[in-house]
Parts: sequence; C-alpha cells; structure tokens
Amino acid sequence: MTSAAYDDNNIFAKILRGEIPSHRVYEDDKTVVFMDVMPQAPGHVLVLPKAPSRNIFDADPASLSHTITVVQKVANAVKEAFDADGVFIAQFNEPAAGQTVFHLHFHVIPRHQGVALKP
Ligand code: ADP
Repeated sequence: MTSAAYDDNNIFAKILRGEIPSHRVYEDDKTVVFMDVMPQAPGHVLVLPKAPSRNIFDADPASLSHTITVVQKVANAVKEAFDADGVFIAQFNEPAAGQTVFHLHFHVIPRHQGVALKP
C-alpha cells in the first residue's frame, strides 16, 4: 500500500510556519526541535526536518541525514540536562505503526533507570 501525500495542514507544519506556538529548544536552517506537549518523561523533545515529508518513506535523504545528526546532538544535550541514565529515540511511520502527526519527527526521551515512561 502506498502512503498518502504530505498535507501541509498538519499541526507540525503549522508550528514550523509559526502559526501555532511551540517551546523551541534548537533550530538551524534545516531542523527545528521543540518540547513535546504531552511528554512521556521530563525532557521529551521532538526533532523535525523543516523539509516537508510525511514520514521516513518520502523523506529526502540529505534532509534525513542532517536530521539524524541533530537527533544525536539533542540526545547528548537532554542526557546531560536531565541527568539521564539513557535516552530513548522513537520514530513512527503511518497509523499502523503509531504515527498520529504526519510530518516526519523523531522523539528523543531521557530515561532514568527503573522509571517507566508515562503512557
Ligand atoms: P504518538 O502520538 O503516538 O506519539 P507521533 O509519533 O505522531 O505519535 O507523535 C506525535 C507527538 O506530537 C505526540 O508525542 C504528541 O504529544 C506531540 N504533539 C502533538 N501536538 C503537539 C504540539 N502542538 N506541540 C508539541 N507536541 C505535540
């Protein structure tokens, strides 16, 4: 089955255009990082390429490559800032895999030994 086309009315597209607010913690010419509004643990952030892609399937490889280097930087930053024991990174593609917002994004979540994520 093929994926649907990118729809620029999705909530992250609106955040990227500045039409709705977000708590941005990092930005460069190709990516934006902001706090998840329903964090599964303190320090849960989302890393997005600015380039419009629905998910991994239609992402431009150069944009994806840059985005993952930002994910690495952010993982190190939240590990330090939240004194975490580890960092969970997740990324969902299509509803069958749990995707609910259809602009490619990576979840970066600090984890502490023995502390469960919020559902
Ligand atoms: P899931 O909802 O299962 O985590 P996604 O990977 O599509 O699936 O993640 C969407 C994420 O976007 C959720 O963690 C949700 O809390 C977050 N979110 C939704 N709306 C906003 C918003 N306005 N600002 C920040 N984060 C948001």
